[in-house]
Amino acid sequence: MNYKVPFVNYPVEYKTMQKEIDSAIKKTLSEGQFILREETQRFEESMVKFLGVNYCIGVNSGTDALLLSLLAAGVGKGHEVITVAHSYVASIASIVHTGATPILVDVGEDMNMDVLQVEQAISPKTKAIMPVHLNGRICDMTKLMEIASKHNLIVIEDAAQGLGATCDGKKGGSFGLASGFSFYPAKTLGAAGDAGLVATNDEEINQKVRLLRDHGRRTKDELACFGFNSRLDNLQAAILNVKLKYLRKWIQRRREIAELYNKGLSNIREVKLPPKPGGRFYDVYQNYVLRVCDRDGLALHLREKGIEVIISNPIPVHHQKALGLSHFKLPNTEQFAKEVISIPNIPEISDEQVEYVIQRIRDFYTK
Ligand SMILES: *Cc1c(COP(=O)(O)O)cnc(C)c1O
Repeated sequence: MNYKVPFVNYPVEYKTMQKEIDSAIKKTLSEGQFILREETQRFEESMVKFLGVNYCIGVNSGTDALLLSLLAAGVGKGHEVITVAHSYVASIASIVHTGATPILVDVGEDMNMDVLQVEQAISPKTKAIMPVHLNGRICDMTKLMEIASKHNLIVIEDAAQGLGATCDGKKGGSFGLASGFSFYPAKTLGAAGDAGLVATNDEEINQKVRLLRDHGRRTKDELACFGFNSRLDNLQAAILNVKLKYLRKWIQRRREIAELYNKGLSNIREVKLPPKPGGRFYDVYQNYVLRVCDRDGLALHLREKGIEVIISNPIPVHHQKALGLSHFKLPNTEQFAKEVISIPNIPEISDEQVEYVIQRIRDFYTK
């Protein structure tokens, strides 16, 4: 279906910078520079500057960024890692793949980890905490870092949705021992396929992740450990280097769209808006997510009107029968799974399209 207001629109996005992207791709192909080459290094260096961290390591996905961060931090069998179920499955999956056990806590009204529940979830086996900066809003990291340091726990941030967002003036992904970013195409900064990044201030983590992403290769001939094939493709990095120049502008536009929605959708009894902007948090709106009554009815109505909407995790991850996590009771997570709906907020849509979405949501609740 051709939507009047699309949720993503890769072709239109591409058109806005086609010349630059074409020439970056052409250059990479002509030179035959594919694996761990200059564009990857340049992207890592640009991200070091953007995030204000000491090291960035390009990897092949956000999921691997989390997995390699956990492994580099020594998380494994016999350990517990505290995280949330109200996230993309990758957060929990990365923990499970280290051999550690995920311990799930609930989320608060901001849809991020309820940091007050973390202390009750700590056991002698707890090794790490993985907060998720969902929808482009940072978890209360100041409070969480206090708890982590009091209990001597590692923090690995799932910053896949938090690129550019801040809490108390500090960028998401720069608080913990390490953090994972994703450049999946639909992310605020998206590659033409899969790509990810580990950010850290710790020299040892930097060294270990560099080994792990490239089969433990210390030099051309010497292997330091068993590793993985999880390198950020030079071609993807070349595209990301072009797109990174536009990131600040795109974030600004996402925030403008959020402001239009916040104004246009206020005072509807059945609609709860995302957390108010401002205060300690700078939000980047990776997703603009409402909590609404009769969510499925609204989704159907909007799709019929040509508006593409997304419902993330209609079945909460801990209720996926095959995953064996159903012993966790998470009332907010379970409630939110019935209420959340993400509406279009890509930089490529116009104010008129935003207004159209607002009016169609208003129609639905005043019919
Ligand atoms: C996208 C995402 C990931 C995984 O990133 P991939 O690049 O798709 O592997 C992890 N966590 C969250 C919260 C995400 O949104």
